[in-house]
Amino acid sequence: MSIEKLAREQVQALTPYQSARRIGGSGDVWLNANESPFDNAYTVSGQGLNRYSSCQPASLSNAYADYAGVDTNQVITTRGADEGIDLLLRAFCEPNQDSVLICPPTYGMYAVSAENQGIATTQVPLTADWQLDMAGIDTALEADASIKLIFVCSPNNPTGNLINRDDIEALLTRTQGRAIVVLDEAYIEFSPEATCTDLLARFDNLAILRTLSKAFALAGLRCGFTLASPAIINLMLKVIPPYPVPVPVADIAEQALSEAGLARMKYQVLDLTANRAYLQAGLSMLPGVEVHPGFGNYLLITLDDADAVFARLGRAGMIVRQTAVANSLRISIGNRDECEKVLAFIRQQLSE
Ligand code: PMP
Repeated sequence: MSIEKLAREQVQALTPYQSARRIGGSGDVWLNANESPFDNAYTVSGQGLNRYSSCQPASLSNAYADYAGVDTNQVITTRGADEGIDLLLRAFCEPNQDSVLICPPTYGMYAVSAENQGIATTQVPLTADWQLDMAGIDTALEADASIKLIFVCSPNNPTGNLINRDDIEALLTRTQGRAIVVLDEAYIEFSPEATCTDLLARFDNLAILRTLSKAFALAGLRCGFTLASPAIINLMLKVIPPYPVPVPVADIAEQALSEAGLARMKYQVLDLTANRAYLQAGLSMLPGVEVHPGFGNYLLITLDDADAVFARLGRAGMIVRQTAVANSLRISIGNRDECEKVLAFIRQQLSE
């Protein structure tokens, strides 16, 4: 089945809202968008904020396409990767009819976003070593024709491991013409060699989620991207709100993707990777603590006293996260001082 035919029927038939920026035009007298003619003091790189932004600022799409090594028509800019999840559900899943497949323990927004749109979730948990249960996924796909999206996260949040590339490829082959595989690479800059962007050339049913929130240190910017076949990107563009990329966001995102911005990001990734190694080595030496190898900017540890340690860390003003993995704590990699503090505190707790 073609990608278009996989879409929600109502989306296939939908004529997208024709915002003034989409209709476009050329000339000096712009009176088609009920904007104000006053360009007040708030300017970003010379562009006035009295005008609506472009739906998809071309220079930002080009910059991200260059960075990711894909074509510009394979990129959509969204309000964080989270909006990419929402748009894919909106484009492909019929409420109260279609469903999505998730592989817990994994990022919570896939299920919440689906639930929010009246879309059911089928769970096929990861195996004991936190890989895809390929036989289980096969059985679920056979049993349930309503599964339209399959969410895979690599590096996986919260477990931190990478998902085997062979399995991702097999899943894409298995689901071609049948379902979309949504591969969440939010943390990929911390393990760049694991990216699956090259598979976009072979599979039109692959959508890869990306973000500036993690390695680019821009969580407050709310800027993410989905990389996919032009067919998927066009369907997402049908359902995205009219002006999804604010002018200041595009401006800062382009700075982050400039040569200097990319160099800074890579330097910071090296710094955080060193801190992760430091924390991993330190925590591994503590009795009763298992540190799971982490490929993102966080580590998952399991220990008998996780609840108590979590509570005491909180009282000491150190906020980490509990996860769906039994007796676990997920610790984000901060600066060296923060890593030293959290390590020293946990060491002290466990020696008492
Ligand atoms: N995917 C994963 C795996 C995440 O952990 C997060 C953020 N916690 C997101 C997506 C959402 O990222 P964004 O800030 O770009 O919406």
